Amino acid sequence: MNAYRALVAEVDDELERCGRPRGSVTVVGVSKRQPVERIVAAIDAGLEDVGENYVQEAKAKFARLPPVRKHFIGHLQTNKAKAIAATFDVVQSVDRIDAGDALGKAASALGKEIPVLLQLNISPSERFGCPPERAPELAEALRAQRGLRLDGVMAIGPMTPDEAEISRAFELAAKTFALVGGSTLSIGMSGDWRQAVRAGSTMIRIGTALFGGRS
Ligand SMILES: *Cc1c(COP(=O)(O)O)cnc(C)c1O
Repeated sequence: MNAYRALVAEVDDELERCGRPRGSVTVVGVSKRQPVERIVAAIDAGLEDVGENYVQEAKAKFARLPPVRKHFIGHLQTNKAKAIAATFDVVQSVDRIDAGDALGKAASALGKEIPVLLQLNISPSERFGCPPERAPELAEALRAQRGLRLDGVMAIGPMTPDEAEISRAFELAAKTFALVGGSTLSIGMSGDWRQAVRAGSTMIRIGTALFGGRS
């Protein structure tokens, strides 16, 4: 069976075990450092969302893909805001006011309103992201920014084999998501998507478990 369909089946089984409806989690295929053929194979099997961390790499790759929803999941630098607004449909990594401001202005200049997620920091191993206690304040500022439509929260789980620690971090993300509002809680990657789904994830970002090892 195709890797994408196999993953969706596993996610649906996990959702069922949690008493959640099948199909209630969106899979974003994280295609950084993956060959285009693997991404196209997943799209042919039904993948509709693709995530990339770097603008230059994304542009070259997107030009060779069938239509998909393009998610920016890398660090949002203000000097890249224009290129990101022009290249992507969704930006998951707004973690501070100046970055949101730059992105909103760039989107407005293009006549776009970009759906964004507020990136939370829920792990000591992560450099970026807004501390959870400051998320409501950032959310308010992002909602006031033209060119953006805040739709929820994204976070990267802690790099640890300790499953209880991962679950606690995801529960903090879910609690903060409830304060921020919106419809998307983007938590869970190849190694921790099950804990994320149990914590209420509505969007998982999967690279290696979908496409295999990165070059
Ligand atoms: C690389 C990356 C992923 C996917 O990682 P895998 O472990 O390969 O699934 C997800 N989210 C972000 C923000 C990433 O940088």
